[in-house]
This record gives sequence, C-alpha cells and structure tokens, in this order.
Amino acid sequence: MIGAGLAGLASAIRLAHRGIEVHVFENNAFPGGKINSKIQEGFRFDQGPSLFTCPEYLEDLYTLCGKDFSTFETIPYTESFNYFYEDGTRIELFKEKERVIQELSEKLGEDKIQVEKYLDKAEKNYKLIAPLFIEKSLHRWWTLFGKQLVKALAHLPSYKLFSTMHEENKQFFKNPRTQQIFNRFAQYNGSHPYLAPAMLNMISHLEINERPVLPKNGMVQISDSLFDLAKEQGVQFHFKEKVEKIVVKNKRVTGVVTNKNEYQSDFVITNMDVSLTYKNLLKNEKHPLKTLNQEKSSSAIVFYFGIKKNFPELHTHNMLFSDNDKAEFDIVFKEKNIHSTPSLYLYISSKANPKDAPEGMENWFILMNAPINTGQEWARIVEEKRKYVISKMSRLLGENIEDLIVTEDFLDPSKVENKYLAEQGSIYGNASNNRFAAFNRHPNFSKKIKGLYFAGVSVHPGGGIPLALNSAKIACECLLSDLES
Ligand SMILES: Cc1cc2nc3c(=O)[nH]c(=O)nc-3n(C[C@H](O)[C@H](O)[C@H](O)COP(=O)(O)OP(=O)(O)OC[C@H]3O[C@@H](n4cnc5c(N)ncnc54)[C@H](O)[C@@H]3O)c2cc1C
Repeated sequence: MIGAGLAGLASAIRLAHRGIEVHVFENNAFPGGKINSKIQEGFRFDQGPSLFTCPEYLEDLYTLCGKDFSTFETIPYTESFNYFYEDGTRIELFKEKERVIQELSEKLGEDKIQVEKYLDKAEKNYKLIAPLFIEKSLHRWWTLFGKQLVKALAHLPSYKLFSTMHEENKQFFKNPRTQQIFNRFAQYNGSHPYLAPAMLNMISHLEINERPVLPKNGMVQISDSLFDLAKEQGVQFHFKEKVEKIVVKNKRVTGVVTNKNEYQSDFVITNMDVSLTYKNLLKNEKHPLKTLNQEKSSSAIVFYFGIKKNFPELHTHNMLFSDNDKAEFDIVFKEKNIHSTPSLYLYISSKANPKDAPEGMENWFILMNAPINTGQEWARIVEEKRKYVISKMSRLLGENIEDLIVTEDFLDPSKVENKYLAEQGSIYGNASNNRFAAFNRHPNFSKKIKGLYFAGVSVHPGGGIPLALNSAKIACECLLSDLES
C-alpha cells in the first residue's frame, strides 16, 4: 500500500480483514494524510477537512471489523451554518429543514415551496445516484447493472444533464445570495459552480438535510480511528518511507522500491496522487495521458489563528461571502489567481469543543479557495491575503483582530503539494468542471498492469472524505474479485 491517507488506511483494513498481509509505506511520520491536526500554544487546529459527511461509510469499516461504531464519539451540536455579508445581513441555516426554508424565505425572499422542492430533489437525486456513481466502479460497468440502475435511469430528466449547478440554482432561486449559498457546494470537490454539472447540486443534501458530524476529538479522530482499526487487523506501517518505484515485470506488479529497501508483492494499491504515481513510480510504462491531463481541482490558502477572545456571534461553521460569486471562481480556475476580496470560510472547532482552545479563547481556521500551484509567488500572495482576512474579520467583529492573535500558521497550495505529495497542490484530484468529469477519472485498477490498484481523491469516484472511503472499497473489491478469478 502506498500512502496512509484516508483511502490508504481504509484499503489496508479491508485487505487485512480478508487475511492478506498488508504493508503500508507512508512518506510522512503520521497517518491520515490531509486529515491531521496540530497543537500550537494550547490551540488544536484541524489542518485539513472540517466537514465530515456520510459517517455511514466509516461505520461500514467498523462493522466489517466487528467493532461498535458508537465508540466513535461525536459532539451533538444543534447550531447553524452561518452566512455573513458585508452589509450586515446574516443568514442562519439551522439544523432543521423547516427552519432553513423559513430563513431563506424571510431573509432572502425565496418561495418556501421552491426551497422545499429543491431540498427534496437534492435528497432524491443523491439517493438515486450515490449507489451507482459513488459506490460502484464505472469502469467495470457490469457491476452497475441491477434495480438501482433502472431506478436511476427512470429519473434521468431530473438530473438536468445539460445544465450547470448555477444554471439550475438560478432557475430555482430568485435572489443571487441564495444562488451563491447553493453554488458553494461545488467547493466540496474543488470545482467551479458555473461549469460543474447540475447533478452536483445533490451535495447540498449532505450538509442541509443530513448535517455534517463533528468527531469528539476533532477531524483527526477519523484517521486515528482507522489507524487503530488497521493495526488491530495486523497491518504493518512503515512511516517516513517513501515509495520511489513500482516494479513491473511482464505487465505485472512484482513489488516496490522505497528510499530504504526493496519489497516483493503480488499487489500494490496506490493512495498517492495518480498523476504522480505514473510520473514518478512508473516512468517506463505507458501513461493514460487523456485521463491524467484533465483539469485539476482547486487548492486553498488556510490561516490558523489562535485568538485570545470569544466571539458569541460566530459559530462552528461560518461563511463570509463577498459579492463576487462568478468572478471568484473564474479567477481561480482561469487566471490561476485569487480575487482581491475572496469569500472566506471560518471554522472554529472550539465552539463545539472548548478543549480545542485555552479558556476564553478560540481556534480559527480561515480558508479561501486558491488555484493549483503553477509557480505563483505564494509568500507575497499569503501576506496580501492575510491583511485582507484581518481587515475583513475586524470589520465584521468591530475589533482589531491583529491584536488578538496569540499564535498562527498557514497552508498554501505549494505546502499542500509538498506535505501530501498532491500534484500542484490540488486538494480533490480532478475538478468536476464538465459533465464527463465523472467518466474521465482514472479507474480504481490499472487496465495495463496486472496487480495495480488505485484509491484516493485523484481517482474514481473523486474528492472528499466520503468518496475517498468509497474509492478504497471499490479498489479492494476489484482486487479481491481479480484474486478470486
Ligand atoms: C485544507 C483542506 C480542507 C479540506 N476540507 C474537506 C472537508 O471539509 N470535507 C471533506 O470531505 N474533505 C475535505 N478535504 C479533502 C480531504 O482531506 C481528502 O479528500 C481526504 O483526506 C482523502 O484523501 P486521500 O485518501 O486521497 O489521501 P491523502 O490525504 O491525499 O493522503 C495521501 C497520502 O499518501 C502519501 N504518499 C504520497 N506519495 C507517497 C509515496 N510515494 N510514498 C509514500 N507515501 C506517499 C502522502 O504523504 C499522504 O499521506 C480537505 C482537504 C484540505 C487540504
């Protein structure tokens, strides 16, 4: 197994559970890849994800290993996802669907029936599509056949195959602010809502109808719990050991070469970015260029601030929108730059879990969308955006935020690239900026090299925690079925 990211851990568990000897080689000194956390001067900061949806895919691994998922403790929080605007408008999307409908109708003048229809449609589409596009291989198409496919095909017109997310949102909602709220879900996989297919509007179901889950010890509990499960299943980990080559003989994998040793193996699953797997580890093999040259998803700049004050008006999940909806995404994807006044997402885990910050203080995680790394001057950009973030937060809260920062750190696309070995710092692999994107992702197995499998955000079904867990499941199903046949 190459890489101990989420999909690497999940794959290792699945195979070890079947009695296969599994060795995981990880370049970093810690498991979990992008899901890790850092403690700095008494503040705990989740370094990557903050929104955990579809916990049932994690539960699946617990069940497989005969463990009770109720031991995975979460914090019950009932508060809303908050949206703030420069003119003082504040929209609170509460936990209950009825209150979401009420809020969008009261504050943004939306028709209640339209909002309800939209949310119902997102739920229906998700339930029809997820079992096919997310849970199955699109490249072993015979696995798709069954009642689910017939059911999904029967609703084809409702997927609006020829519209983009924004076009459909514009049809449903009259207020551009509501459109912007629902366009935001393109960020779940680092895409552009004015290009991504309308089908992705179903993502809103996961946040608004279902609600994200907050693990008791922060997001890192997801990777820590999988690491523990993997060790219990007998998986052997080799940290700080980078794989440098996948050995292939007569079109069949025979092992890997790392910076420390050479190992023989009948199978290799790579959780490494698929483009880098080919470029760096399979230099002599033919590369599937069409698949690898697809447009990459966006990256991010994140500021981690320890703040020596509590702000009751802020909640766990806060969005500070600017009025640049389309321009922000255009600049990121077309100009590979960041808008001068980008929207900000502010996550404060200490709101729900006070032990994440010293008493009376808060741990701020402020994220803005950024382009992939094409050699921009990140030091200058980060400095410029830090000033913007401080001034925007100071305006919103009526305090000089600079004076309240006790400790700080940041992440930028070049750091994402180097820390997680993600090509050009793309967070979610390929973008979904056209309606064929789902079909253009690399399969979870190699069509040319026997014994080689792929799991992680850069391959099918795509980016984000739920999809990475499914990529592991599909890769292992392919491997086990090949083994049997
Ligand atoms: C700032 C940020 C915010 C995010 N927010 C969210 C969110 O809110 N919700 C959500 O669902 N997702 C979010 N994501 C995405 C999420 O983190 C990923 O989708 C998820 O962690 C799955 O990643 P993965 O399995 O592909 O592995 P990765 O985390 O990419 O891990 C791959 C691992 O492979 C290792 N590796 C690579 N090459 C080699 C090699 N040659 N030898 C040995 N080891 C190697 C790397 O070191 C790394 O540990 C966010 C990501 C970031 C960075």
